[in-house]
Amino acid sequence: MKVTVDPELCYGSGDCVYRLPTVFTVVDGFGAVLPGREGTGADPLVRDAADKCPSQAIRIEG
Ligand code: SF4
Repeated sequence: MKVTVDPELCYGSGDCVYRLPTVFTVVDGFGAVLPGREGTGADPLVRDAADKCPSQAIRIEG
């Protein structure tokens, strides 16, 4: 399953990076998925980070 960050919703809190630095990063002040980690959407830790994103900007689909 694919994980992405919607830049329209993200406000760069950094919570996702704090929770899961192996998947998320911050680029130019916004959350992003690290290259090569886009396919980790089924990981419960990724789902947890998505649930706890304060702006619900993390999308898991596929
Ligand atoms: S937790 Fe959500 S709002 Fe905060 S940086 Fe990550 S994607 Fe953006």
